[in-house]
Amino acid sequence: NEGLGSWPARRARKTPHRTALIHGEQSTDYRTLHTRTTRLAHALRARGVRRGDRIAHLGTNHPAYLEGLFAAGLLGAVFVPLNTRLTGPEIAYQLADSGAKALIHGAAHAGLVAGLPAGTDVRIRVEIGDAYEQILAAAPTEPIDEPVSPDDTCLIMYTSGTTGRPKGAILTHANIIWNAVNVLVDHDLFADERALVSAPLFHTAGLNMITLPVLLKGGTCVLVESFDPGTTLDLIERHRITFMFGVPTMFGQVARHPRWANADLSSLRILTCGGSPVPTPLIATYQERGLTFLQGYGMTEAAPGALFLDAEHAVDKAGSAGVPHFFSDVRVVRPDLTPVGIGETGEVVVRGPHVMSGYWGLPEETEAAFAAGWFRSGDAARVDEDGYVYIVDRIKDVIISGGENVYPAEIEDLLLAHPDIAECAVIGVPDDTWGEVPRAVVVPAAGAELDPEQVLASLSGRLAKYKIPKSVVVADELPRTASGKLLKSRVRDRYGTPAP
Ligand code: AMP
Ligand code: MG
Repeated sequence: NEGLGSWPARRARKTPHRTALIHGEQSTDYRTLHTRTTRLAHALRARGVRRGDRIAHLGTNHPAYLEGLFAAGLLGAVFVPLNTRLTGPEIAYQLADSGAKALIHGAAHAGLVAGLPAGTDVRIRVEIGDAYEQILAAAPTEPIDEPVSPDDTCLIMYTSGTTGRPKGAILTHANIIWNAVNVLVDHDLFADERALVSAPLFHTAGLNMITLPVLLKGGTCVLVESFDPGTTLDLIERHRITFMFGVPTMFGQVARHPRWANADLSSLRILTCGGSPVPTPLIATYQERGLTFLQGYGMTEAAPGALFLDAEHAVDKAGSAGVPHFFSDVRVVRPDLTPVGIGETGEVVVRGPHVMSGYWGLPEETEAAFAAGWFRSGDAARVDEDGYVYIVDRIKDVIISGGENVYPAEIEDLLLAHPDIAECAVIGVPDDTWGEVPRAVVVPAAGAELDPEQVLASLSGRLAKYKIPKSVVVADELPRTASGKLLKSRVRDRYGTPAP
């Protein structure tokens, strides 16, 4: 087994007694991780899971997350992380689209799982807790030696698209391994790293930028079920955390917490911020505490690291997303794919052994996502005279709210189904806490009266909370081109100021 599934066994051979995971009061060393992973793989195989089958996971950061991922890898099965903030219908879509045969879920999600729409066809369901422990206890510990090659699929990670429906990015073991190598090389990770994992493991950053590279190196990951700024400060002190990753929203909340001024942050060595644009004032706040942000830029489709601003240039190039990771190629190009000149804005394109092979079951979308072998990010950027890349805007209309991607098209589809809405456009507006929040601009159908509260109520339960617009503006008409195409940039200019 040359894939991720072999990592616990390899680590157990080298460093059996080092702590791999800490969760609350519970520590798991590498030998235990190996044993439990092997047992879980046997249990899943006994229930019918075979190579290539999809195993979905719906849960918060917990050792069972990694056990599920590595057990899938041992069997040559594919792990499908699900976002815990999604609603039942959204989860059902991803289960059906991926054709999941098994679903491992947290106790907190038992209600949601039980209430999945009829026809949700997931044969094997395992709840983390007593049932999960019993299954493990009853399973054998003999080594599993299913042949798995680096080019086999490891993960399907869903990421939303402009067409509204989320798309599953197919990531191979090689994609994940190359990304981990990039992180190890560019972060200078130590074997005794103690990482705080408060970014969710169902997001590419929490899983691939922090947890997996640290486990590859034999360090310790402290798993946090849900991010809280005060708890973050407590855990940094208690575990002498050396490495942390967060989206800007998380780092902002930590710096605004009353305990920030007196907390002991002396153990912190690596702070990586990324996932959405990093505000310059935030960088300054941390620098005043003697803490320097490294910045990462990437996307689910690239497993995810593409650009990285390392410690050496974190100050003089603050605000830049850096240069490509060691084993990554990134260009900023014109529409004809020729590189832009210094200072000119173009689209970021990415190529390398960490880039996905395609979207699950979507050959046309896959083809459209690549140009001459380069993955098209849809992000606009410019490059300075030293080759440092600055992400300036998004070409696509994605709104990033607290690190979550919100795709306007998905919300617009639902709004347009409202009988009293004739036209609509969803845009992002600046927000101190979340970076951006969605706002809906709606045009009433002829003769109809629109109540903003009632419009919002019509979305509740159908979309994850973070996707529900924070404000609704009723307009007479929307700006369009002569051919009738909506002018999103004009909508932003007209309706995008903070107060409605
Ligand atoms: P996802 O597919 O959910 O990982 O989101 C990827 C998108 O997040 C990228 O295409 C960018 O638009 C945005 N993004 C990620 N990192 C950064 C960054 N450091 N600065 C600006 N935008 C970023
Ligand atoms: Mg994406």
